[in-house]
Amino acid sequence: MIWLTHIVFAFLIAKFFFVEFNVVQALLLFFSALFPDIDNKNSLLGKMFKLPVKHRTIFHSLILILPVAYLIFIFAGAVYFKIFLIGSLSHLFLDCFNVSGVKLFYPLRFRIKGPIRTGSFFDYLLLFVFLAFLILI
Ligand SMILES: [Zn+2]
Repeated sequence: MIWLTHIVFAFLIAKFFFVEFNVVQALLLFFSALFPDIDNKNSLLGKMFKLPVKHRTIFHSLILILPVAYLIFIFAGAVYFKIFLIGSLSHLFLDCFNVSGVKLFYPLRFRIKGPIRTGSFFDYLLLFVFLAFLILI
């Protein structure tokens, strides 16, 4: 999915858990919805960090996401923990519908994948539907 689809979907899911955010919480949700793609040199965060890891491996795995969430819980508390989980897990969930799929339990090779290509008509259709729900609900 394109980065905007991930952002809008994360905010849509968060809307079911939170009535309002402060600016730091909103930024954390924005960051965490894009966090797994930090391993993609062509992504918004990947261009900034240029990490020497393969795309859709450790950063798209629960083996990394859950310990990072735990650290956020320890240092920032339950609200920030929940926001990070909503952002990053909503990202992984959407990527499960992508043709490249996700190895949720990397380094295990088991992969969940779907029919949608990044930047395709269906990607933009999802963006439109999520945006409509975000505004209307
Ligand atoms: Zn991704």
